[in-house]
Amino acid sequence: MPIHILPDELAAQIAAGEVIERPASVVKELLDNSIDAGAREIKVEVRGGGQRLIRVADDGGGIPAAEVVTAFARHATSKLDSADDLFNLRTLGFRGEALPSIAAVARVTLITRARDEPTGTQIRVEGSRIVEQRALGAPQGTFVTVEDLFRYVPARLKFLKAPATEAGHIADLIHAYALAFPQLRFSFVNDDRLVFQSPGTGKMFDALVKVFGSQVAQQMLEVSSSEFQWPRSLHPQPETGNLNPATGIRVAGFISPPSLTRPTRKHMLFFVNHRWVQDRTLQHAVIEAYHTALMVGRAPIVALDIVLPPNAVDVNVHPTKSQVRFRDTSAVFRIVQQTARTALTTHAPIPSVHLAAPFPPRAETPALELYRSAPTAERGPATAEPSTPHLPNYPPAQLPMLRVLGQILSTYIIAEGPDGLYLIDQHAAHERVLYEQLMAERARATIATQELLDPLPLQLTLAQQAALETHRDALASVGFRFEEFGNQTILLRAVPARMQASDPRAALVAILDEMEQGEEPLEKSAEARLISSVCKSLAVKGGQTLSLEEMRELIRQLEQTTAPRTCPHGRPTMIQLNLAQLAREFGRK
Ligand code: ADP
Ligand code: MG
Repeated sequence: MPIHILPDELAAQIAAGEVIERPASVVKELLDNSIDAGAREIKVEVRGGGQRLIRVADDGGGIPAAEVVTAFARHATSKLDSADDLFNLRTLGFRGEALPSIAAVARVTLITRARDEPTGTQIRVEGSRIVEQRALGAPQGTFVTVEDLFRYVPARLKFLKAPATEAGHIADLIHAYALAFPQLRFSFVNDDRLVFQSPGTGKMFDALVKVFGSQVAQQMLEVSSSEFQWPRSLHPQPETGNLNPATGIRVAGFISPPSLTRPTRKHMLFFVNHRWVQDRTLQHAVIEAYHTALMVGRAPIVALDIVLPPNAVDVNVHPTKSQVRFRDTSAVFRIVQQTARTALTTHAPIPSVHLAAPFPPRAETPALELYRSAPTAERGPATAEPSTPHLPNYPPAQLPMLRVLGQILSTYIIAEGPDGLYLIDQHAAHERVLYEQLMAERARATIATQELLDPLPLQLTLAQQAALETHRDALASVGFRFEEFGNQTILLRAVPARMQASDPRAALVAILDEMEQGEEPLEKSAEARLISSVCKSLAVKGGQTLSLEEMRELIRQLEQTTAPRTCPHGRPTMIQLNLAQLAREFGRK
């Protein structure tokens, strides 16, 4: 093929691919525009996961009639004049790419009225072609409707996930924005249902309550740094002009205590000058602040805004503007880590299990992380090298015969073995037992199903519905039967037989939440993950008093499992203190 210049339309579609990957990208760009326009209230409405329709309405400054057509031209922006401005950005947008990109791959209708103009304008653009433009009465603000996304690039359609999954991405995005801009009121209507609304009080905490629920929000620790002096070399250059009165860096927001975690980093949200970014440096900085207090494979919940002079960060790294480059990454790392750590140690001093000799780390016993010091305590020289085998014999994976002595805090079982003392987490132990039983039944295809006498209607959140769709077959294979009822409601007809005793609806919801919250690092197949979620909802909970007989039975069953020392989620089922440790701790040798 000879070299030739691509037709404009094709070039536009190719360029759009960088910015618009999925429906959530459209929503992100439109939100950015509304925020840049000074909106106070932003309403997002979506149908068919955003592929059929996305509508974003704001009460911002609007676009002057004379500029409406220009707004759809490539590289047309009102936010940037010169290259210098790139390093003094106060807006979320600046590349002038969003509107033309969206219009290249979908049908767009924009209605807008600028603050000082008496009439508004409507413009319709389809696959980069303006098909209508007229004046009309409209409230101040901008109202963008995007229909038939990827109609003009059908190949992209194949990459879209189920509508509920795409809608879930949009919900995640709006949640993040509600946290980053607590002074704004965001609402999200999905397929005619209002699924989210932020209060717009200006307090991040109030947004947290809406996003994560008040139970989680109440436990979160507030992080608030005083203004750190920015390294001298990074002081704003006089020639770049009107900087933030702040020359320093401020970190503010919330992080979860070590006891409140998630299986993925999905809920670690970082904002840089209120812009939601994906940044591994920031993730690491916070995770480091927890030291070893986080369980293996778990991540905290985080919503942190890092505010710094605009010239200390480069946003023009990627077309989606979701990555940033800091001028002094290590300074940012240090400050974020220190601030998070201060919050952790002042709000939640962690009682340290400070034993002198940790076991050597071993894959199937993350339990032993507990033997290292908690973040409040500095590690002594003896614990500094966890890889040194202090003990001649590492405890075998299999359990010896244990004698149950009792239960403490209605949560842990104390038992004695030939080589020392065992403290067993009853919930984790029961999860392990159930998991192996269910996996065995599953292998023999003998998981028993129990029909419900009265089918139970159950309304799901978007995320739960997405999980249900993704794991439909796996759910059926472990004994769930249900039918869709529309409007995010299902009718539950049968459940795994073991589940009869519990509340089957609550159990299914718990399972879907668990599935949605991410991959469990230790499990491979979707079914194994599902089964471990089932076990979690079935297992005896902490805080439940058990009889001696029940405890003995549980321990007897645990002894028969293949991996008695961890629960199916990879958490420890027990802590062991062997004779040598006891002797050493008591100064007997
Ligand atoms: P950018 O945001 O990078 O400038 P866009 O293509 O997203 O580029 O938008 C082009 C221009 O259209 C913006 O610079 C802005 O002037 C105008 N605009 C877009 N959306 C809105 C809106 N919701 N309210 C007011 N003006 C808008
Ligand atoms: Mg924009």
